[in-house]
Amino acid sequence: MVSYRRTKRILVTGGAGFLGSHLCERLLGQGHEILCVDNFFTGTRRNVEHLLDNTRFELLRHDVTFPLYVEVDEIYNLACPASPVHYQFDPVQTTKTSVHGTINVLGLAKRVKAKALQASTSEVYGDPEMHPQAEHYWGRVNPIGPRSCYDEGKRCAETLFFDYHRQHGLPIKVARIFNTYGPRMHPDDGRVVSNFVVQALSNQDITIYGDGRQTRSFCYVDDLIQGLIALMETDSTVTGPINLGNPGEFTVRELAELVVELTGSRSEIVHKPLPQDDPRQRKPDIERAKRALDWHPTIELREGLVRTIEYFRTQIAA
Ligand code: NAD
Ligand code: UDP
Ligand code: UDP
Repeated sequence: MVSYRRTKRILVTGGAGFLGSHLCERLLGQGHEILCVDNFFTGTRRNVEHLLDNTRFELLRHDVTFPLYVEVDEIYNLACPASPVHYQFDPVQTTKTSVHGTINVLGLAKRVKAKALQASTSEVYGDPEMHPQAEHYWGRVNPIGPRSCYDEGKRCAETLFFDYHRQHGLPIKVARIFNTYGPRMHPDDGRVVSNFVVQALSNQDITIYGDGRQTRSFCYVDDLIQGLIALMETDSTVTGPINLGNPGEFTVRELAELVVELTGSRSEIVHKPLPQDDPRQRKPDIERAKRALDWHPTIELREGLVRTIEYFRTQIAA
């Protein structure tokens, strides 16, 4: 009799980070065994502390730029700092993480015949001329600027995924993730949602970079995690890349005003210089995700912000 092993052994690199910790939690909830690998550069043990008692959860401190020999069925490759402040702190290490790290992950996947999913990013579109951004758009990325270590590293990681697929027949999935926010973002992460919420809750000035007319589309973490898992579960005909994000588009000023309203803050809105190469607009075209994954985000910005503000309130009080 054929016996089906429904429980999978899943490696999540970057599993102690913001998205990784939510992903580990969700996959554990589905009954799988999780190996969470992280070097704690931006992630923390605290993010996964509540999972440590679960016998199906294992945490390993390891830098993915070094080889890793483990036995797994699936790999979610999330290891890489995501906030501009953090990925620009040690740009060479950022590129190494995306390039050497991805080679190691793919070498591992090839050896154990595991399915691998890459957490790519809307940053592969750079400062886009096409709006909204669809997957067939090749992007407009500066190869030598301060954001390049992240953008080009992620582009090279996509190349590696597709070459291991073509050259070695590896089953792959590539998700292009757009700005995602929610509980467990690091308070000093430097990204716009965590910055504004923390500033508003502590009645500090809210720092808009530039005139605040640049746009972003913000996806709540629970929606994103559902999209990632749905992508991993597709059959072998679906490789991606597939955009995952919430198409609701807001200016940074609108976000600041919404955060002030929802927190009831006395903070003033102030302006600071716009960082170099800051993309002017960003909004995902998610038609492919809707068709291939039957997925679309369900949590609007206002609702997601209320939940995020609640989380940061408890953090600031603690
Ligand atoms: P995060 O910084 O919270 O998580 C990244 C994790 O990777 C951290 O736990 C960090 O310690 C770990 N890490 C970094 N370098 C490593 C290395 N060399 N070896 C092992 N672990 C390493 O960021 P996040 O928002 O959770 O992002 C997770 C992934 O999703 C990243 O790959 C990021 O590029 C991608 N992504 C995120 C967003 C977003 O808006 N959150 C958008 C697009 C893409
Ligand atoms: N690798 C790894 N774990 C494994 C298998 C490979 O970390 O289980 C690393 C290995 O160090 C190698 C990389 O993945 O540098 C790429 O492996 P691949 O087999 O594709 O290439 P090769 O070993 O031929 O360079
Ligand atoms: N931003 C801002 N104030 C902040 C942090 C960010 O105005 O305190 C702006 C930033 O310049 C960018 C947008 O908000 O235009 C999103 O920035 P984030 O770092 O969150 O993500 P990314 O630029 O990678 O999309």
